[in-house]
Amino acid sequence: MKRHIKYQVDAQADWGAMVGEQPGCERLFSCIQCGTCSGTCPVSIYMDLSPRRIMALVREGFRDDALASKTIWLCASCYSCSVACPQKISVTDVMYALKREALSKGILPKDLAIPVLAQEFCSMVSKTGRNSEFWLVLRVALRTNPFALFTMLPVAWNLMRTGRLPLGREAIVRKWELPARAAAKGVR
Ligand code: SF4
Ligand code: SF4
Repeated sequence: MKRHIKYQVDAQADWGAMVGEQPGCERLFSCIQCGTCSGTCPVSIYMDLSPRRIMALVREGFRDDALASKTIWLCASCYSCSVACPQKISVTDVMYALKREALSKGILPKDLAIPVLAQEFCSMVSKTGRNSEFWLVLRVALRTNPFALFTMLPVAWNLMRTGRLPLGREAIVRKWELPARAAAKGVR
């Protein structure tokens, strides 16, 4: 069961302000905790913390609770909460900011494949500029549930047979200009 009582000693006071500096998160501190975001969210019933509680945790600086939450990964980026929020807060962008930080710090829920998918997708696109679906699915399955590959075989075969799941790795033409590659080579 989730602990509902929070202690100030566990908070990082300036972390919420840092999230508030992320693009789209500027109005974070105007949240009035009305709960409209949670009531509007189509997937909140599957979340461990409602969007309203995520907003409260971020504002107060409870970084680890917010980043380790499954909520940020279950968010479907539908923007319903952002449209409905009476304070015009883009809750969706806050979710994105938390996802980025969770990925960069490696604070990920253990029993959820979605962050692994995000990690592998970002890794692939930053190296090649393209997503190669076959390799993405393979890498995610190997890291999360290798046995699932056997159940995927019939569908994968049909997709490959009809040319809809190519085995080749796709890449943009001048992939050395991608920011991650350019930074590694010291190119500005
Ligand atoms: S709808 Fe807006 S103001 Fe209300 S709890 Fe959610 S973020 Fe806060
Ligand atoms: S953007 Fe995410 S948090 Fe907001 S309503 Fe949609 S699924 Fe829920």
